[in-house]
Amino acid sequence: MAEENSFQNVLHQLDKTAEIMNLDHNIHNFLRKPQRSLEVSIPIRMDDGSIQVFEGYRVQYNYARGPCKGGVRYHPSVTYDEVKALAALMTWKCAVADLPYGGAKGGVVCNPKEMSQTELERLTRRYTYMILPIIGPEKDIPAPDLYTNEQTMAWMMDTYSMITGYSVPGVVTGKPLEIGGTKGRAYATGKGVMFITRKALEDYNIPIKGATVAIQGFGKVGSYAAQFLAEKGCKIVGVTTVEGGLFNPDGIDIPKLLSHVREKKPFAEYEEKNLEYVPDLEKANKRLISLDVDVLIPAAMENQITHENAGDIEAKIIVEGANAPTTPKADEILIERGIPVIPDILANAGGVVVSYFEWVMSLQAFLWSERDVNVRLRDLMLKAYESVSSIHKKMKVDLRTAAYILAVSRVAKAIELRGLFP
Ligand code: GLU
Repeated sequence: MAEENSFQNVLHQLDKTAEIMNLDHNIHNFLRKPQRSLEVSIPIRMDDGSIQVFEGYRVQYNYARGPCKGGVRYHPSVTYDEVKALAALMTWKCAVADLPYGGAKGGVVCNPKEMSQTELERLTRRYTYMILPIIGPEKDIPAPDLYTNEQTMAWMMDTYSMITGYSVPGVVTGKPLEIGGTKGRAYATGKGVMFITRKALEDYNIPIKGATVAIQGFGKVGSYAAQFLAEKGCKIVGVTTVEGGLFNPDGIDIPKLLSHVREKKPFAEYEEKNLEYVPDLEKANKRLISLDVDVLIPAAMENQITHENAGDIEAKIIVEGANAPTTPKADEILIERGIPVIPDILANAGGVVVSYFEWVMSLQAFLWSERDVNVRLRDLMLKAYESVSSIHKKMKVDLRTAAYILAVSRVAKAIELRGLFP
């Protein structure tokens, strides 16, 4: 099995879970495949007048528990297998958080860094048009993911609304505030990672004040996780992005780094006392992953912790901010070494939890306060953590397997209750 095939990795974990929980083999078979997949080609007129045809997908993995939910990713490395894996993870993630949703994911193979805003707008509108028959507030609700953002969601919402003939804010989440987005959505995943990290530190008897943290990725997840953890007194001693790594044993001044990054200044120009900048990404990541820290937070891409580097990890706890950052082979090594991994489907659920709030608000045309959003986010994250943790203790399984047992049993129950059509 190729270690990097995300879909095979997700199936591997499902199979492991099915065996431990003695899952009905018919339901197990059903859960090994997506319920519906759509592959689309997206012809776009580029700014230079040429036509380029992009490849896109929307996969609805399972909708037994409700309408499908999940982001759309724009990235050159998108594949059908990756989108299937991420759609499966969304199914488990929504079930772990007990949201009334199934799971989906979308992706377009493209490099947004090399495209203009007008090209991206045309791509988004045509992609939305192509997947229109299967999306909608009651069917499948897209959201941002890697290299998509509030603006992407605004274009998707507008395209859907223009074709429908009236404004339909509930068709996407992660929208700008002005058109039905919610306060707290932009930083929700990072805030959720903080709530889960804080709880995990408490469980493993590590005081949060002064706890050392290393974060891979400083985007929508990593930067906010760094901000909220620093606010709680953690020392962020290392951060890496595609620009390389920043390391400071005294703790990076996160508010200062955040304003530097938000002004679009390069990592290389960031300065502070005792800071070390490592421009080579591979070297920076190698060092980050092997730092002797309390918490390691992979918050970038899939398959970052593999059998090759899992043995070097010195962190006491790993909290998965990214989706699928740890391969099954690495998982085995970490279980063997007794390093707890708080899995993606629990740790990074904050984004979809607040997406759910936004969707409810859009359907009801009623806005909650930022405080309401954050309090409810904390409550849902901690409830999910408690449920996973109690299975982990009772069944003596690792945390990922515990989270899968919770998710799979909830989805299986929904399938059983609904029965087979026709
Ligand atoms: N893309 C995010 C995730 O992977 C959020 C999905 C959503 O809000 O629907 O969880």
